[in-house]
Amino acid sequence: MKIGIIGLGVAGISILREIEKQTQKDMRGDLHITVYAEKESFGTGFPYQPDDEALLINQYTETMSIDPDDSNDFLEWVRENKNLKQLYNTHLPRNLFGEYLLDKSRELIEKLNVTVICVKVLSVKRQENNQYEIKTKNSTETTDCIHLSVGHLAYQDPYNLKGEEKYIYNPYPANKKLSLQKGPIAVGIVGTGLTALDTFLYIRKYYPEAKLSFLSLDGRFSSVRGHEPKKGTHAVCQERVRQLVEENQQLTLDQIKEWVEKETADRDIDLTWIWKTLGEGTLTGLQRDLNHLEELGKFQMLIHQMRDFYSLLWNAMPDNEKDRFLNDFGLKWSNFKAPIPQRTAALLLKSISDGEVELLSGIKSIKKENGDFKVQINGQKTRAYDFIINATGQQMDLTKQLYLQQPLIKELIESGVLTPYRYGGVLIDYPSMTAISQKGERVNGLYVYGQLSSGIQYGNNNVELISKSAQYSVQDMLKI
Ligand SMILES: Cc1cc2nc3c(=O)[nH]c(=O)nc-3n(C[C@H](O)[C@H](O)[C@H](O)COP(=O)(O)OP(=O)(O)OC[C@H]3O[C@@H](n4cnc5c(N)ncnc54)[C@H](O)[C@@H]3O)c2cc1C
Repeated sequence: MKIGIIGLGVAGISILREIEKQTQKDMRGDLHITVYAEKESFGTGFPYQPDDEALLINQYTETMSIDPDDSNDFLEWVRENKNLKQLYNTHLPRNLFGEYLLDKSRELIEKLNVTVICVKVLSVKRQENNQYEIKTKNSTETTDCIHLSVGHLAYQDPYNLKGEEKYIYNPYPANKKLSLQKGPIAVGIVGTGLTALDTFLYIRKYYPEAKLSFLSLDGRFSSVRGHEPKKGTHAVCQERVRQLVEENQQLTLDQIKEWVEKETADRDIDLTWIWKTLGEGTLTGLQRDLNHLEELGKFQMLIHQMRDFYSLLWNAMPDNEKDRFLNDFGLKWSNFKAPIPQRTAALLLKSISDGEVELLSGIKSIKKENGDFKVQINGQKTRAYDFIINATGQQMDLTKQLYLQQPLIKELIESGVLTPYRYGGVLIDYPSMTAISQKGERVNGLYVYGQLSSGIQYGNNNVELISKSAQYSVQDMLKI
């Protein structure tokens, strides 16, 4: 069997890991694996490519293993290779995690005798005999199946500034892209998510004279990471949920809420108080989170433990219930799920109260005029900036701004092989991760991961869930 893996980040490495785990040595002679990867992020993926140490993993070290069967894998790697001891509840630099991933990639490539082509894939076509033709700028190959582990979708461009000088559309790697000029320049960071905070940390470190503003719609950041207790007991009636889903029963949001309320009560978490008081993301909200790290951590621990069956719950709800969840709880749930490291939150608050950085909300427009960026904010005078940095996150809706996506994704959508899904990314059969075409058919042998599958594999923007997604897809592939 000829296997093509496009992209070697967390998902690509996990596919290799599962092929190694799920096959006997004597069977591997029949598997011809080719990995296609971009040179800059080969074996690390986009977030963990070589970059500055100021950019941190947003989760605790002990939750970042690439191996679902060994949750201590990263922790042990750091202990052995970096001689660091105090590792629990720390946020290490992302490039360190990249080194770990690269080590794992090299091990697996050697074991599985993989061919590596370090060039971007430009096109994938499904042929009549159900094989796939993969093209790069200088090669064409045919495979029996494809793992589309290309990771992050293109960044949004909400003010249509892409291509303008001094507009930094994609700020990574920061040590190359955030090359500004020294002196008291005015820099606007559009957004308040984790990318905006990376940018803040980097610019503060290398351009201390720059005058920084966060330009946002609502002036809210995420929640702060609390002190998660080491162990929780059980997570929301997993068995009961699985049973209901196996019986093809649909779930209502009220049913799920009832389970969550019961679970939080069992864990002595005051859900009503937490939901009303914490995770608000405003400056007072961040300070309040910092003052209640124990309560916050207990709740975040529960959210973390529920990850394994987010998709089960999500896909068992009809669309109207999914919409209700997103409207009533979605944003805050995401904020609790992807919190800011405590030190970053404290530094942010201090920098804002010292007047080093400002937070502006209510942006109406950003335009380039006479060499400056003019930012119009509700009810205020227009402000001018020398640089604008885009930290608005990826365009998950593939019915919008498709021209921003890379040619490969654009082609697969336009040819009907992939189907944009209303909750982001594309339609897949879960958990096999098999693509579903615009004709509503399974595209056998085409597996989709990461952000592209996040509309169905809800909440998968983390190492843990992305690395697990390869377990079922590889099982499915080996049956071909
Ligand atoms: C800035 C940032 C920080 C993050 N921090 C964390 C964190 O701290 N903890 C956490 O759990 N999650 C974090 N995440 C979430 C992240 O999505 C996952 O951790 C994980 O890296 C995603 O893995 P992936 O394999 O899907 O994608 P990626 O890691 O992006 O890997 C995809 C790879 O495919 C390559 N590729 C793309 N197109 C092609 C092509 N046409 N041909 C060949 N190769 C191609 C890319 O260059 C890339 O190397 C972060 C995400 C971002 C954007």
